[in-house]
Amino acid sequence: MKRLAVLTSGGDAPGTNACIRAVVRMALRHDYEVLGIHRGYAGLMDGDFEVIDGRFVGGIAHRGGTILKTARTEKFKTEEGRKEALENLERHNVDVLVILGGDGSLTGALRLHEAGFPVMGAPATIDNDVAFTDMAMGVDTAMNTALQAIDKIKDTASSHRRAFLVETMGRNSGYLALMVGIASAAEAIVIPEVPSSCESILASMKEAHRKGKAHFIAVIAEGADPDCRTLDQYLKEREDQLGFGVRVSILGYIQRGGSPTAFDRLLGTRLGAEAVKQLVNGEKGKMVGLVGSQIVATDLEQVVGTKRGVDLSLYELAQMLEVYPSR
Ligand code: ADP
Repeated sequence: MKRLAVLTSGGDAPGTNACIRAVVRMALRHDYEVLGIHRGYAGLMDGDFEVIDGRFVGGIAHRGGTILKTARTEKFKTEEGRKEALENLERHNVDVLVILGGDGSLTGALRLHEAGFPVMGAPATIDNDVAFTDMAMGVDTAMNTALQAIDKIKDTASSHRRAFLVETMGRNSGYLALMVGIASAAEAIVIPEVPSSCESILASMKEAHRKGKAHFIAVIAEGADPDCRTLDQYLKEREDQLGFGVRVSILGYIQRGGSPTAFDRLLGTRLGAEAVKQLVNGEKGKMVGLVGSQIVATDLEQVVGTKRGVDLSLYELAQMLEVYPSR
Protein backbone atom coordinates (compact mmCIF):
# COMPACT_ATOMS: atom_id res chain seq x y z
CA MET A 1 0.00 0.00 0.00
CA LYS A 2 1.30 3.48 -0.87
CA ARG A 3 2.01 5.88 1.96
CA LEU A 4 1.28 9.62 2.14
CA ALA A 5 2.60 11.80 4.95
CA VAL A 6 1.49 15.27 5.96
CA LEU A 7 3.14 17.95 8.11
CA THR A 8 2.54 21.56 9.15
CA SER A 9 5.51 23.93 9.45
CA GLY A 10 6.36 27.52 10.37
CA GLY A 11 3.86 30.04 11.75
CA ASP A 12 0.52 28.42 12.55
CA ALA A 13 -2.54 29.62 10.69
CA PRO A 14 -6.27 28.98 11.28
CA GLY A 15 -7.81 26.72 8.64
CA THR A 16 -4.90 24.32 8.75
CA ASN A 17 -6.89 21.67 10.60
CA ALA A 18 -9.59 21.66 7.93
CA CYS A 19 -6.81 21.18 5.41
CA ILE A 20 -5.26 18.29 7.35
CA ARG A 21 -8.70 16.67 7.53
CA ALA A 22 -9.15 16.97 3.76
CA VAL A 23 -5.66 15.63 3.04
CA VAL A 24 -6.17 12.61 5.28
CA ARG A 25 -9.69 11.76 4.12
CA MET A 26 -8.87 12.25 0.44
CA ALA A 27 -5.71 10.14 0.73
CA LEU A 28 -7.63 7.33 2.45
CA ARG A 29 -10.18 7.46 -0.37
CA HIS A 30 -7.37 6.89 -2.82
CA ASP A 31 -6.18 3.89 -0.79
CA TYR A 32 -3.12 5.51 0.70
CA GLU A 33 -1.99 4.75 4.19
CA VAL A 34 -1.56 8.11 5.95
CA LEU A 35 1.12 9.26 8.35
CA GLY A 36 1.03 12.47 10.35
CA ILE A 37 4.40 14.03 11.07
CA HIS A 38 4.43 16.04 14.29
CA ARG A 39 6.24 19.39 14.74
CA GLY A 40 6.98 20.16 11.09
CA TYR A 41 10.52 19.69 9.80
CA ALA A 42 11.78 19.15 13.37
CA GLY A 43 9.59 16.03 13.65
CA LEU A 44 10.55 15.00 10.13
CA MET A 45 14.22 14.99 11.15
CA ASP A 46 13.52 13.36 14.54
CA GLY A 47 11.31 10.62 13.08
CA ASP A 48 8.18 11.84 14.92
CA PHE A 49 5.78 9.97 12.61
CA GLU A 50 2.39 8.45 13.43
CA VAL A 51 0.02 6.39 11.32
CA ILE A 52 -3.35 8.14 11.42
CA ASP A 53 -6.84 7.17 10.37
CA GLY A 54 -9.95 9.03 9.32
CA ARG A 55 -11.15 9.35 12.91
CA PHE A 56 -7.96 11.13 13.97
CA VAL A 57 -9.13 14.15 11.96
CA GLY A 58 -12.77 14.07 13.10
CA GLY A 59 -14.07 17.17 14.89
CA ILE A 60 -11.05 19.37 14.15
CA ALA A 61 -12.15 21.62 11.27
CA HIS A 62 -13.53 24.29 13.61
CA ARG A 63 -10.39 24.44 15.75
CA GLY A 64 -7.55 26.95 15.37
CA GLY A 65 -3.89 25.96 15.47
CA THR A 66 -2.70 22.65 14.05
CA ILE A 67 -3.31 19.25 15.58
CA LEU A 68 -0.01 18.07 14.09
CA LYS A 69 1.85 20.89 15.91
CA THR A 70 4.39 23.05 14.15
CA ALA A 71 7.97 24.19 14.59
CA ARG A 72 10.76 26.33 13.24
CA THR A 73 14.18 24.75 12.91
CA GLU A 74 17.42 26.05 11.43
CA LYS A 75 18.78 22.52 11.07
CA PHE A 76 16.45 21.76 8.16
CA LYS A 77 18.18 24.51 6.19
CA THR A 78 21.35 22.38 6.21
CA GLU A 79 22.18 19.45 3.91
CA GLU A 80 22.77 17.30 6.98
CA GLY A 81 19.33 18.06 8.42
CA ARG A 82 17.58 17.30 5.15
CA LYS A 83 19.56 14.07 4.78
CA GLU A 84 18.15 12.90 8.13
CA ALA A 85 14.67 13.90 6.97
CA LEU A 86 15.00 11.94 3.73
CA GLU A 87 16.31 8.89 5.61
CA ASN A 88 13.28 8.99 7.91
CA LEU A 89 10.91 9.23 4.96
CA GLU A 90 12.58 6.18 3.45
CA ARG A 91 12.57 4.29 6.76
CA HIS A 92 8.81 4.84 7.08
CA ASN A 93 8.22 3.91 3.42
CA VAL A 94 6.64 7.28 2.67
CA ASP A 95 5.94 7.75 -1.06
CA VAL A 96 4.63 11.31 -1.11
CA LEU A 97 4.57 14.24 1.32
CA VAL A 98 2.13 17.16 1.74
CA ILE A 99 3.59 20.28 3.39
CA LEU A 100 1.43 23.07 4.81
CA GLY A 101 3.18 26.34 5.64
CA GLY A 102 4.37 29.78 4.61
CA ASP A 103 7.15 30.90 2.29
CA GLY A 104 9.94 29.47 4.49
CA SER A 105 8.24 26.08 4.74
CA LEU A 106 7.56 26.04 1.00
CA THR A 107 11.25 26.79 0.37
CA GLY A 108 12.01 23.75 2.52
CA ALA A 109 9.52 21.77 0.41
CA LEU A 110 11.33 22.87 -2.74
CA ARG A 111 14.62 21.62 -1.29
CA LEU A 112 13.07 18.15 -0.73
CA HIS A 113 11.71 18.17 -4.28
CA GLU A 114 15.18 19.09 -5.61
CA ALA A 115 16.55 16.14 -3.65
CA GLY A 116 14.14 13.91 -5.59
CA PHE A 117 11.33 13.45 -3.05
CA PRO A 118 7.74 13.93 -4.32
CA VAL A 119 6.13 16.79 -2.39
CA MET A 120 3.05 18.98 -2.71
CA GLY A 121 2.79 22.29 -0.82
CA ALA A 122 -0.24 24.26 0.37
CA PRO A 123 0.00 27.89 1.57
CA ALA A 124 -0.78 28.46 5.26
CA THR A 125 0.30 31.80 6.71
CA ILE A 126 -1.46 34.83 8.14
CA ASP A 127 1.05 37.09 6.32
CA ASN A 128 -0.41 36.38 2.84
CA ASP A 129 3.04 36.80 1.33
CA VAL A 130 3.04 33.61 -0.78
CA ALA A 131 2.83 34.12 -4.55
CA PHE A 132 0.47 32.19 -6.86
CA THR A 133 -2.38 32.10 -4.37
CA ASP A 134 -4.79 34.97 -3.86
CA MET A 135 -5.19 33.95 -0.23
CA ALA A 136 -3.32 31.62 2.09
CA MET A 137 -5.12 29.65 4.79
CA GLY A 138 -5.36 31.71 7.96
CA VAL A 139 -5.39 35.18 6.44
CA ASP A 140 -9.15 35.66 6.54
CA THR A 141 -9.43 34.56 10.17
CA ALA A 142 -6.50 36.76 11.22
CA MET A 143 -8.05 39.74 9.42
CA ASN A 144 -11.37 39.23 11.17
CA THR A 145 -9.71 38.80 14.57
CA ALA A 146 -7.72 42.00 14.12
CA LEU A 147 -10.79 43.83 12.85
CA GLN A 148 -12.87 42.88 15.89
CA ALA A 149 -10.05 44.01 18.18
CA ILE A 150 -9.76 47.36 16.40
CA ASP A 151 -13.52 47.91 16.60
CA LYS A 152 -13.24 47.46 20.37
CA ILE A 153 -10.23 49.76 20.60
CA LYS A 154 -12.18 52.37 18.68
CA ASP A 155 -14.90 52.35 21.37
CA THR A 156 -12.45 53.14 24.13
CA ALA A 157 -10.50 55.57 21.94
CA SER A 158 -13.66 57.57 21.24
CA SER A 159 -14.67 57.63 24.90
CA HIS A 160 -11.37 59.22 25.93
CA ARG A 161 -10.64 61.07 22.70
CA ARG A 162 -7.43 59.19 22.14
CA ALA A 163 -5.19 58.29 19.22
CA PHE A 164 -4.27 54.60 19.08
CA LEU A 165 -1.38 53.02 17.26
CA VAL A 166 -2.53 49.45 16.69
CA GLU A 167 0.18 47.03 15.62
CA THR A 168 -0.75 44.01 13.52
CA MET A 169 1.39 40.93 12.84
CA GLY A 170 2.98 40.10 9.51
CA ARG A 171 6.78 40.23 9.73
CA ASN A 172 7.89 42.07 6.57
CA SER A 173 4.47 41.98 4.99
CA GLY A 174 2.01 44.87 5.32
CA TYR A 175 -0.91 42.87 3.91
CA LEU A 176 -2.77 42.38 7.17
CA ALA A 177 -2.32 46.00 8.28
CA LEU A 178 -3.46 47.33 4.91
CA MET A 179 -6.56 45.17 4.63
CA VAL A 180 -7.58 45.60 8.24
CA GLY A 181 -6.82 49.31 8.05
CA ILE A 182 -9.22 49.69 5.14
CA ALA A 183 -11.87 47.44 6.67
CA SER A 184 -11.77 49.26 10.01
CA ALA A 185 -11.81 52.67 8.30
CA ALA A 186 -8.58 53.58 10.09
CA GLU A 187 -7.34 57.16 9.89
CA ALA A 188 -3.80 56.04 8.95
CA ILE A 189 -2.06 52.88 7.74
CA VAL A 190 1.68 52.34 8.07
CA ILE A 191 3.22 49.41 6.18
CA PRO A 192 6.78 48.41 5.27
CA GLU A 193 6.07 48.52 1.53
CA VAL A 194 5.47 52.30 1.55
CA PRO A 195 7.78 54.90 3.16
CA SER A 196 5.91 56.70 5.94
CA SER A 197 6.60 60.18 7.30
CA CYS A 198 5.97 60.66 11.00
CA GLU A 199 5.51 64.35 10.39
CA SER A 200 2.63 63.72 8.01
CA ILE A 201 0.98 61.30 10.45
CA LEU A 202 1.32 63.98 13.13
CA ALA A 203 -0.23 66.51 10.74
CA SER A 204 -3.18 64.18 10.00
CA MET A 205 -3.74 63.65 13.71
CA LYS A 206 -3.76 67.37 14.40
CA GLU A 207 -6.14 67.94 11.52
CA ALA A 208 -8.45 65.14 12.71
CA HIS A 209 -8.52 66.69 16.17
CA ARG A 210 -9.20 70.14 14.78
CA LYS A 211 -12.13 68.70 12.77
CA GLY A 212 -13.59 67.33 15.99
CA LYS A 213 -12.89 63.63 15.50
CA ALA A 214 -13.34 61.62 18.68
CA HIS A 215 -10.54 59.18 17.89
CA PHE A 216 -7.65 58.50 15.56
CA ILE A 217 -6.74 54.92 14.72
CA ALA A 218 -3.45 54.22 12.97
CA VAL A 219 -2.91 50.60 11.96
CA ILE A 220 0.80 49.83 11.91
CA ALA A 221 2.31 46.67 10.43
CA GLU A 222 4.82 44.87 12.65
CA GLY A 223 7.56 45.36 10.06
CA ALA A 224 6.81 49.03 9.28
CA ASP A 225 9.73 51.41 9.47
CA PRO A 226 8.52 55.02 9.63
CA ASP A 227 11.17 57.72 9.17
CA CYS A 228 11.26 58.59 12.89
CA ARG A 229 11.67 54.90 13.74
CA THR A 230 9.64 54.90 16.98
CA LEU A 231 6.37 56.51 15.96
CA ASP A 232 4.80 56.11 19.41
CA GLN A 233 7.66 57.96 21.09
CA TYR A 234 7.62 60.66 18.41
CA LEU A 235 3.88 61.26 18.91
CA LYS A 236 3.96 61.02 22.70
CA GLU A 237 6.63 63.71 22.79
CA ARG A 238 4.24 65.91 20.81
CA GLU A 239 1.01 65.08 22.67
CA ASP A 240 0.56 68.71 23.76
CA GLN A 241 0.32 69.82 20.12
CA LEU A 242 -1.95 66.91 19.22
CA GLY A 243 -4.95 67.18 21.44
CA PHE A 244 -5.29 63.38 21.48
CA GLY A 245 -3.68 61.28 24.17
CA VAL A 246 -1.57 58.63 22.45
CA ARG A 247 -1.82 54.93 23.27
CA VAL A 248 -0.27 51.82 21.75
CA SER A 249 -1.94 48.43 21.39
CA ILE A 250 -0.01 45.48 20.01
CA LEU A 251 -2.50 42.86 18.86
CA GLY A 252 0.15 40.13 18.81
CA TYR A 253 -0.56 36.43 18.97
CA ILE A 254 -4.35 36.62 19.29
CA GLN A 255 -4.27 37.11 15.51
CA ARG A 256 -3.01 33.56 15.05
CA GLY A 257 -5.59 31.80 17.20
CA GLY A 258 -9.31 31.25 17.18
CA SER A 259 -11.85 29.25 15.29
CA PRO A 260 -11.27 29.64 11.53
CA THR A 261 -13.79 31.59 9.48
CA ALA A 262 -15.98 29.80 6.93
CA PHE A 263 -13.66 31.12 4.22
CA ASP A 264 -10.56 29.58 5.80
CA ARG A 265 -12.27 26.25 6.44
CA LEU A 266 -13.45 26.08 2.84
CA LEU A 267 -10.07 27.17 1.49
CA GLY A 268 -8.17 24.70 3.68
CA THR A 269 -10.50 21.90 2.65
CA ARG A 270 -10.21 22.65 -1.07
CA LEU A 271 -6.42 23.05 -0.94
CA GLY A 272 -5.96 19.83 1.02
CA ALA A 273 -8.15 17.79 -1.30
CA GLU A 274 -6.47 19.19 -4.42
CA ALA A 275 -2.97 18.58 -3.00
CA VAL A 276 -3.77 14.87 -2.74
CA LYS A 277 -5.46 14.75 -6.16
CA GLN A 278 -2.37 16.28 -7.75
CA LEU A 279 -0.12 13.67 -6.14
CA VAL A 280 -2.48 10.86 -7.16
CA ASN A 281 -2.19 12.15 -10.73
CA GLY A 282 1.58 11.94 -10.53
CA GLU A 283 2.21 15.67 -10.10
CA LYS A 284 4.94 16.75 -7.68
CA GLY A 285 7.11 19.72 -6.71
CA LYS A 286 4.11 22.06 -6.80
CA MET A 287 1.99 24.21 -4.54
CA VAL A 288 -1.80 24.31 -4.77
CA GLY A 289 -3.23 27.82 -4.49
CA LEU A 290 -6.41 29.81 -4.94
CA VAL A 291 -6.32 31.67 -8.23
CA GLY A 292 -9.59 33.51 -8.84
CA SER A 293 -12.18 30.95 -7.86
CA GLN A 294 -10.13 27.92 -8.89
CA ILE A 295 -7.53 25.81 -7.09
CA VAL A 296 -4.46 25.79 -9.32
CA ALA A 297 -1.11 24.01 -8.92
CA THR A 298 2.10 25.98 -9.63
CA ASP A 299 5.71 24.77 -9.59
CA LEU A 300 7.29 25.39 -6.19
CA GLU A 301 10.33 26.83 -7.92
CA GLN A 302 8.16 29.56 -9.42
CA VAL A 303 6.29 30.14 -6.16
CA VAL A 304 9.42 30.45 -4.06
CA GLY A 305 11.18 32.57 -6.69
CA THR A 306 8.39 35.16 -6.85
CA LYS A 307 8.08 37.96 -4.35
CA ARG A 308 4.51 38.75 -3.42
CA GLY A 309 3.92 42.39 -2.58
CA VAL A 310 0.79 44.18 -1.45
CA ASP A 311 -1.57 45.74 -3.96
CA LEU A 312 -0.48 49.37 -3.85
CA SER A 313 -3.69 50.53 -5.51
CA LEU A 314 -5.44 49.51 -2.29
CA TYR A 315 -3.00 51.63 -0.31
CA GLU A 316 -3.81 54.56 -2.57
CA LEU A 317 -7.51 53.91 -2.06
CA ALA A 318 -7.03 53.93 1.71
CA GLN A 319 -5.16 57.24 1.45
CA MET A 320 -7.92 58.80 -0.63
CA LEU A 321 -10.43 57.91 2.05
CA GLU A 322 -8.34 58.87 5.06
CA VAL A 323 -7.51 62.37 3.83
CA TYR A 324 -9.29 65.21 5.57
CA PRO A 325 -10.72 67.50 2.92
CA SER A 326 -11.11 71.08 4.05
CA ARG A 327 -14.88 70.98 3.53
P1 ADP B 1 6.82 30.10 7.36
O1 ADP B 1 6.80 28.78 6.70
O2 ADP B 1 5.60 30.40 8.17
O3 ADP B 1 7.23 31.20 6.41
P2 ADP B 1 9.55 30.13 8.43
O4 ADP B 1 10.04 31.13 7.45
O5 ADP B 1 9.99 30.28 9.85
O6 ADP B 1 7.96 30.04 8.50
O7 ADP B 1 9.99 28.69 7.91
C1 ADP B 1 9.60 27.53 8.60
C2 ADP B 1 10.68 26.50 8.52
O8 ADP B 1 10.92 26.15 7.15
C3 ADP B 1 12.05 26.96 9.02
O9 ADP B 1 12.17 26.90 10.42
C4 ADP B 1 12.96 25.96 8.34
O10 ADP B 1 12.96 24.73 9.03
C5 ADP B 1 12.27 25.78 6.98
N1 ADP B 1 12.93 26.66 6.00
C6 ADP B 1 12.81 28.00 5.88
N2 ADP B 1 13.62 28.47 4.91
C7 ADP B 1 14.28 27.40 4.40
C8 ADP B 1 15.27 27.23 3.39
N3 ADP B 1 15.75 28.25 2.70
N4 ADP B 1 15.71 25.96 3.15
C9 ADP B 1 15.22 24.91 3.84
N5 ADP B 1 14.30 25.02 4.81
C10 ADP B 1 13.82 26.24 5.10
